[in-house]
Amino acid sequence: MNATVLLGPPGAGKGTVAEVLVDKGYVHISTGELLREQIRLETPLGLEAKKLMDQGRFVPDDVVVAMIRNLLESAENDTRFLFDGFPRTLGQAEKLDELIQSLGGSLERVVLLECPDDAIVERLAGRRTCGKCGSVYHVTFNPPSHGNVCDVEGCQLSQRTDDTEKTIRKRLDVYAERTAPLISYYEARNLIQPINANQPIEHVRADVVASIS
Ligand code: ADP
Ligand code: AMP
Repeated sequence: MNATVLLGPPGAGKGTVAEVLVDKGYVHISTGELLREQIRLETPLGLEAKKLMDQGRFVPDDVVVAMIRNLLESAENDTRFLFDGFPRTLGQAEKLDELIQSLGGSLERVVLLECPDDAIVERLAGRRTCGKCGSVYHVTFNPPSHGNVCDVEGCQLSQRTDDTEKTIRKRLDVYAERTAPLISYYEARNLIQPINANQPIEHVRADVVASIS
């Protein structure tokens, strides 16, 4: 198996970019989505995670690493993984390296989506998501075709409970402190492919597709 990491602050557009890469055969793994599934199922892990997520704090490394380990170990050899929101700490990055090595795979690239904080706050405040299929919309930049309804599932869209201005600011601080150091971690191995994510969605998607092909 091989892996591509989508790195960037919350709201940079990782999930939005992932939608087109899935069409190109990548298997999209969003740890945030996996955790929200546990919340929907009301599992003990989900209930614990929700408290941290709603405060904009990280779930412990061992919890997310265990989820990723299960997925990687049960995958076919030729799977192309696209990680979104993982790794988020140096500890997670080191574990991912160990896991990939133990499975004989390779980390091909880290696509870094660069976007200023002001744009991020506007994006997250207007984000709407489908609870059934995970499609991501924006009230202004990527509105659904009809009202507040998912184009794919036809159900009502919702706002994430962590997309409040206070929690968004906290998540940006946590990103700067704990995730941004991953840029130099991967730069040292020449894996970083920077993308200007402060452009219209179709431009960002096209730049990412060009950079990985
Ligand atoms: P992330 O997965 O990095 O947290 P998302 O893909 O969920 O980010 O995008 C956050 C919000 O910003 C969504 O509402 C999405 O529709 C919107 N968005 C994503 N990319 C762009 C872009 N290039 N320009 C404007 N809005 C965008
Ligand atoms: P996301 O959907 O990527 O915006 O993630 C939503 C929230 O889930 C984050 O703010 C964290 O609380 C939690 N989370 C997601 N991925 C991770 C991770 N790799 N490590 C720790 N916490 C995570």
